Amino acid sequence: MRTRTQVGIVGAGPAGLLLSHLLHRAGIESIVLENRSREYVEHRVRAGVLEQAPVDLLKSAGVGARLAREGLVHRGIELRFGGRGHRIDFPSLTGGRCITVYGQQEVVVDLIGARLAAGGQVLFEVADVSIDGIETSAPRIRYTSGSEGHEIVCDVIAGCDGFHGICRQALPDHQRHVFERTYPFAWLGILARAAPSHEELIYAYHERGFALFSMRSPEITRLYLQVAPDEELASWPDERIWEELHTRLETDDGWRLNEGPVLEKGITPMRSYVCEKMQHGRLFLAGDAAHIVPPTGAKGMNLAVADVHVLAQALTELLKSGRRDLADAYSQTCLKRVWRAEHFSWWMTSMLHRFPDDDGFQQRLQRSQLDYTVSSPAAATSLAENYVGLPFE
Ligand SMILES: Cc1cc2nc3c(=O)[nH]c(=O)nc-3n(C[C@H](O)[C@H](O)[C@H](O)COP(=O)(O)OP(=O)(O)OC[C@H]3O[C@@H](n4cnc5c(N)ncnc54)[C@H](O)[C@@H]3O)c2cc1C
Repeated sequence: MRTRTQVGIVGAGPAGLLLSHLLHRAGIESIVLENRSREYVEHRVRAGVLEQAPVDLLKSAGVGARLAREGLVHRGIELRFGGRGHRIDFPSLTGGRCITVYGQQEVVVDLIGARLAAGGQVLFEVADVSIDGIETSAPRIRYTSGSEGHEIVCDVIAGCDGFHGICRQALPDHQRHVFERTYPFAWLGILARAAPSHEELIYAYHERGFALFSMRSPEITRLYLQVAPDEELASWPDERIWEELHTRLETDDGWRLNEGPVLEKGITPMRSYVCEKMQHGRLFLAGDAAHIVPPTGAKGMNLAVADVHVLAQALTELLKSGRRDLADAYSQTCLKRVWRAEHFSWWMTSMLHRFPDDDGFQQRLQRSQLDYTVSSPAAATSLAENYVGLPFE
């Protein structure tokens, strides 16, 4: 079976779905291919913090109604160390900007709903996806659905298929310069049915390792612990997780963490990764397909949104008027923001985690940086400005 579309999009995560939606609003046709089921992608719990600019974009693109109703607007975060909390106030440091806590899976639900309501094509549970002909003006995506082979002839392919997808591998070697760091720890994350015991996120620096208190709704708490990179989930029964969270998050004034049934748990490796360039011929990569950040700065989903904001405009110009300059500059435009987020995420990670081989030198640097960040308005402003994210150009 052979079909045709203007933009073939591989991956129905935040990047692929939002790109398809933005292109539709600009009058450009696309087909999204996803190898998982709709049920699976709509329940995949991952990121949950949206910067101000992505929130504004989702609202102005007509997919922000539920986000406006149910998203939790946060005006700050707490850095907790030495038994005390220190609040970083975003609006006063950034000219009124904030973040919104809204689960990534909710963004995905909203976008799938909008695409299907508009008659858009999002094909779930496809298999054997491959791409071909990216150096020609008619690149192709092949896949199977059921037992039938299909081919989509496109003007452009967008690789929005995450870090383990197939699209990045299609870049020729000389166009794929990879910059990468792995960290000597991972995050064990849980989702618990427990009312959040604090209104804002808490980043806790503790001698036993980092912990993060966060939430997804007024009933659901999301919590993370720094663990060894090769840690087995089986070694962490719920009681051990709660005990460790209490230890790392405790304060001198007796603050208590609410407990509740654990709904989900998983271990996420910590990695910084950038593929330069993010395009070749008629293939453009967006989101995790091109770059990964450790989650400490809450930037992954935000970068995915930022990329497709740029890509939608570039492809609209390319496909409507044949104007190539925005498309040609796509990597360069995105990489500026990507590297800012890479630096911020690396900096937050380095400041807040215990490093296994540290002889005390790193700990003293971290403590000095934390004291400085919470006592100097200049240092606090730098953190706040990066956390709420830069405006879109
Ligand atoms: C396990 C995990 C946990 C995370 N946790 C956090 C967190 O706690 N906090 C945080 O800030 N960030 C977190 N992130 C980062 C954040 O979720 C990502 O940055 C974000 O999902 C990027 O969106 P995306 O659309 O680029 O990629 P994805 O969301 O990964 O979407 C890619 C899509 O492509 C599909 N796909 C892959 N291969 C193929 C193929 N061959 N054919 C068709 N479809 C394909 C995938 O199923 C997926 O639906 C996490 C990421 C991961 C992987």
